[in-house]
Amino acid sequence: MTQPIQHPQDPNLDHLCSALRDNAPRWSRVSDWPLESLQLCGRFGVFRWFVSSAQGGYGWSDREQTEGYLRLAEADLVTTFVITQYMGAIRRIAGSTNPHAAEAWLERLMNGDSFATVGISHLTTSRRHLSQPVLKAVRVDEGYQLSGMSPWVTGGTHADLLVGGATLDDGRQILAAVPRESRGIDAKPGAELVALSSSCTDQVMFEDVHVSDAMILGGPIENVLQSGIGARTGGLQTSTLAVGLSMAAAKFLSAEAEKRQDLLEPSAQLMDEVKILRDTLLAACSGEVSCDASEIRGQANRLVLRSTQAALMAAKGAGFVDGHPAGRWCQQALFFLVWSCPQPISHAHLCELTNIPLSLDLGPTS
Ligand SMILES: Cc1cc2nc3c(=O)[nH]c(=O)nc-3n(C[C@H](O)[C@H](O)[C@H](O)COP(=O)(O)OP(=O)(O)OC[C@H]3O[C@@H](n4cnc5c(N)ncnc54)[C@H](O)[C@@H]3O)c2cc1C
Repeated sequence: MTQPIQHPQDPNLDHLCSALRDNAPRWSRVSDWPLESLQLCGRFGVFRWFVSSAQGGYGWSDREQTEGYLRLAEADLVTTFVITQYMGAIRRIAGSTNPHAAEAWLERLMNGDSFATVGISHLTTSRRHLSQPVLKAVRVDEGYQLSGMSPWVTGGTHADLLVGGATLDDGRQILAAVPRESRGIDAKPGAELVALSSSCTDQVMFEDVHVSDAMILGGPIENVLQSGIGARTGGLQTSTLAVGLSMAAAKFLSAEAEKRQDLLEPSAQLMDEVKILRDTLLAACSGEVSCDASEIRGQANRLVLRSTQAALMAAKGAGFVDGHPAGRWCQQALFFLVWSCPQPISHAHLCELTNIPLSLDLGPTS
């Protein structure tokens, strides 16, 4: 029987990561949903890391969660990314003051029998420039009626439960847990993407979907995601996955350097840089340093692009052949340019890429 991983130094984490790394090349297209790796994570208790012991989880601290995510992301970015969205849903269910959704769903989500995901980006980083909200809520008898769409939902078609945000006419927002089988929901199968296609990320359409009051996790309130329902402060999770992927690339370069003298200095330099950023990240998660999450995100984005491309340089033409990890990592690194990238960070990247001073205004923020 698989022993659950109770802490980040547990040797079973090595076994899990080794299995995830072996499976990772299989998760390529929309048809390759990483079910097997998710089930494996469920058997090792991964989904309990993120929930308090009072609610049946292992109650890992922010630092321990970050250590766990760093290891998982280094082994298999696709499965780890899917888990972040899954845990985003679980945390919001567990953190709600309305206990009904947790009572009905939390245990089966934590043991991996059911899968949940989030559709919240339209309240934060997606479609913010449009005059009308893309997903609207109207108060009806004993609940709300949702109409419109959620533009980005990872694994929506595989989910049993969707945690999503919607906006009322007066601008207030609700956060709701909606069973995917509810009448009026159409979860699209997943779009083929530059990378992470097997995360099956796509739109979910809502046509007059009724959500009962029992399934409202938060609101109606302005900026419901800032009201603290299961949210982690600081937004360091995206950077964590970028650093995990950078570590995979740096280790590849180190292994190549064992055979090639010319790679010794670059590989040592890159490994140092990855370790420094990893330590900064862990210190920030532990509250040891006053952290600027945006600064860390900017550094993580630059590092993941450079480290994966360094791995590709070392792998040469072989790395450019479909299926080689270096090529896959380079594609995956591009994801961090768009995933939940706050406007100031994308602004800074754009200035860098176009070689203009950072202070220049690039137009309205989105
Ligand atoms: C693989 C993947 C998985 C994801 N999974 C999830 C998930 O599970 N849950 C979740 O909630 N989110 C998810 N996201 C969403 C993500 O967090 C971001 O919100 C998203 O990448 C933002 O991109 P967007 O194209 O929607 O941005 P938008 O800002 O909506 O931009 C879309 C287009 O609008 C135009 N535009 C942008 N700004 C302006 C402006 N100011 N004026 C005029 N036109 C403008 C541009 O042409 C742009 O291409 C995922 C994203 C990706 C790529």
